[in-house]
Amino acid sequence: MKIIDNKSLKEHNTFGIDASAKEFVTVKNIDELKEALQTDLEILILGGGSNVLFTKDFPGRVIKNEIKGISTVRENDNNVLIKAMGGEVWHEFVLYTVNQNLGGIENLSLIPGTVGAAPMQNIGAYGTEIKDTLESLEALEIETGAIKKFTANECNFGYRSSIFKNELKNKFFIISATFNLSKSPIINASYGKVADSLHEKAISNPTVKDVSDAIINIRSSKLPDWRKIGNAGSFFKNPVINKKYFLKIKQKYPDVPSFEIPENQIKIPAGWLIEKCGFRGKTKGNTGTYEKQALIIINKGNATGLEILNFSKEIQRCVKNKFGIKLDTEVNFY
Ligand code: FAD
Ligand code: NAP
Repeated sequence: MKIIDNKSLKEHNTFGIDASAKEFVTVKNIDELKEALQTDLEILILGGGSNVLFTKDFPGRVIKNEIKGISTVRENDNNVLIKAMGGEVWHEFVLYTVNQNLGGIENLSLIPGTVGAAPMQNIGAYGTEIKDTLESLEALEIETGAIKKFTANECNFGYRSSIFKNELKNKFFIISATFNLSKSPIINASYGKVADSLHEKAISNPTVKDVSDAIINIRSSKLPDWRKIGNAGSFFKNPVINKKYFLKIKQKYPDVPSFEIPENQIKIPAGWLIEKCGFRGKTKGNTGTYEKQALIIINKGNATGLEILNFSKEIQRCVKNKFGIKLDTEVNFY
């Protein structure tokens, strides 16, 4: 096992923050993982670094997950169970399933990061979340080294959350995830932009590949490429409020966009709230929000994690003062 001391993490987080790790280890199989966990130092599991913000140097051991492999567990006439190891690149795994015309995760095309991190926040986009197809996952308990299987139900998936982001935070290393994919895909083009894109191409009976291609195009034109402009996608979650409070806001701001979700709750796009506070495209020092989507905080060059954190707090304060709504962060801080 190769331990690198005082390793810069700049190339290992999509924000491009130049923090360093006291120790850095890459693991390519379970034995290497078990060896890497033998330390008294604090552990940080790292996938693609696309949902982390380093606000200081990490004083412990960073374990970078490169455990790869994809296999078919079993199949019948209608479905296939496919297992992907956690170090697989998520988008490459999606393309692997799309190219076999298997349905279920095509709407999650082009999300950065690894398979192993995807259950952490139940990644979601364009009306699909991994909870819709995840059958089970295997995770190694950091304290004991025991490997446990979690069914989807046991993962307590919620909106951008799971048991691994809450009660079991930092307790398990997700080794693999198994998905139940359909041989007779049901297309989900419920998000207007996806439907519009298919319509523009005169595609009336879309395949999973058509949907995946449409989403790749939409995302490529709307989101900043983190290789050029550092970011971690949506910095905040979309707030969910009760209908009564929503109607109060709507009285004052009739143009407020909203989406009804179960239990009489309303989801408001956080990007709109931030924009209304005048933050869209706003720059502060080395940071700012992206001009095409205010929900994305960007590194304009040499930002420190602390600078980004302070800017995010300014946004939170403004949204709270103007709308009485607390914006929760989606990104994980270290
Ligand atoms: P990392 O950033 O490396 O880690 C994130 C967290 O998970 C950390 O706390 C880490 O310790 C933990 N972790 C990582 N791997 C494991 C593991 N194997 N076991 C246990 N814990 C682990 N997210 C969405 O949900 N939907 C989107 O549409 C979306 N779009 C994005 C677009 C852009 C441009 C960017 C930059 C990000 C976007 N994200 C989106 C956020 C991000 O891509 C996802 O959350 C992704 O799953 C993070 O994967 P990662 O491997 O980079 O995780
Ligand atoms: P958008 O289309 O401009 O829409 C803004 C928000 O409205 C989205 O966040 C979405 O909520 C919600 N929304 C739009 N249409 C909806 C519908 N038909 N039903 C329910 N909710 C709807 O959003 P965008 O920024 O371009 O992102 C598009 C998709 O990619 C979204 O699903 C978004 O979550 C995802 N994305 C996520 C990240 C991340 O880092 N988490 C980054 C980029 C994009 P939801 O977010 O709940 O879907």
